[in-house]
Amino acid sequence: MHMRVPHVFNSLHVRVTGLFLALLLVSGGAWYFWVNATLLEPRQDAATAHWWDDLAEGEITDLGRTCAPVVADPVALADRLAAFGDRVRRFEAEVVVVAADGRAIASTDADSLTAAIGALDPALVAAMAADDWDFETYPDSTSVDAYVNRIFQVEPLAATAGGAPAGWLVASYMPVTVTPGELLATTRQMGTRAVVVALLAGALSGVIAMTWLSRRVRAVSAGVEAFANGDLTHRVPAASADDLGRLGRNINLMASRLETLIEELRAKEQFQRQLITNISHDLRSPMAALRGYVETFVIRGTEMSDDERNRHLEVITGNLDHLDRLVDHLLQLSRLDAGQARFQMEDFPLAELVDGVLTRCEGVAQTKNVALDVEIPDELPLVHADPLQIAQVLQNLLDNGIKFNRPHGRVVVAVAAAAERVRVTVRDDGEGIAPEILPHIFDRFYMGDLSRHRKGESNGLGLAIAQKIVQGHGSNLTVESRPGEGSAFTFTLAAAETRKADSAKA
Ligand code: ADP
Repeated sequence: MHMRVPHVFNSLHVRVTGLFLALLLVSGGAWYFWVNATLLEPRQDAATAHWWDDLAEGEITDLGRTCAPVVADPVALADRLAAFGDRVRRFEAEVVVVAADGRAIASTDADSLTAAIGALDPALVAAMAADDWDFETYPDSTSVDAYVNRIFQVEPLAATAGGAPAGWLVASYMPVTVTPGELLATTRQMGTRAVVVALLAGALSGVIAMTWLSRRVRAVSAGVEAFANGDLTHRVPAASADDLGRLGRNINLMASRLETLIEELRAKEQFQRQLITNISHDLRSPMAALRGYVETFVIRGTEMSDDERNRHLEVITGNLDHLDRLVDHLLQLSRLDAGQARFQMEDFPLAELVDGVLTRCEGVAQTKNVALDVEIPDELPLVHADPLQIAQVLQNLLDNGIKFNRPHGRVVVAVAAAAERVRVTVRDDGEGIAPEILPHIFDRFYMGDLSRHRKGESNGLGLAIAQKIVQGHGSNLTVESRPGEGSAFTFTLAAAETRKADSAKA
């Protein structure tokens, strides 16, 4: 699962500062351990370390054994200790022998040590001689200088094995003596090192943090440069949650938007070009036909029989009708495209409008032998729409329904209330539409059957105009069709009542 990062860590400022502080902390910690290891630990050479690690304990035990028989003989005892002392002084160890009553009686450092110690608590020394004594615990925790704190091994000196000890051999570290001069030098050295290390660590941390930051900024800037040079497919890194990530995401979004915009513009340009080609082509054929017939008239007008002349005139009128319809459709489309066709919305009864359009279509329907019908329930809410535009939609759908029908076919306009809207369907039982051309019929200038175009019946704009108007009314013109069975075109309009209820609510 993705862990939720608290919002503040998404700020670039916090991240850079965090990185910088973390680096400082790491380098500071490393320096601390290094100082501990090099400056504060005793600087032991290999021989000293070997003696302390491997030999000390055994040698001191041995010394205890050799000293036990001569506890009572001060000269012999002093000799043995002195000889041992000469050897171990350089390891910074010293040994003292205390009698059973705790008095210091001899030492590796003859006079000074016994004089300095004087006496030890015999009970404490006896306890230290036990196997389980832990020399890490300080008997006199109030004083760092107390001799008992430096003891690291105690051997009982028994004349005979098992007998009460006549005294103890006490081994200790030498006291650490630091002169004021040494202390000052060490402090100075540490201070200088601290400043140097702090400066180095700070500079290094700063450089790393800045490198990290500038690398990311560079990646974004390289992206923007690519966009500036026209490569809109380039994307900048945008995975991070911080400000730079957000900047990257927004830049990418901007690039995608520009990309689609440019694509749309290109498509539009292509479309306009195609449109002009189509229009020129569509205007040219009827004009050429007209010119031909008119020229015939000019040349042979007086020689023509009445029949011939009438046929010519019919063709001329047909071509003029086609031109008229084409120009009319083009004007409508361009007005709809430009958004100039402001819809004059009003509440009106749809039934009357349907009747009006049907009456206008009756003439053509009769010539084609197609019956027109309506299915409208008595109780129907008023619709809120532009009546002239909706009449145009119905006209175009009925024209098609009649045009693409067969003799004795039927076209029905069915209206019904549907969920706060009114649904209008224009249904015919004509030739239907093949599935492969169905997706294209709303395209401008698309015609399923080009022979009709030649006859001047089609221009491929009727459904495009109807769709545009229906969409302007907040609906969509949809079609269902089966070849050989007929087609049904459906759209919906807002019912006037719901609108009133809505505005009352608001
Ligand atoms: P036009 O009718 O001028 O050809 P339209 O945009 O009105 O242009 O229709 C586009 C195409 O859709 C028509 O050429 C025709 O192939 C098909 N079409 C439209 N309405 C019907 C229908 N009721 N029955 C069969 N085909 C239809």
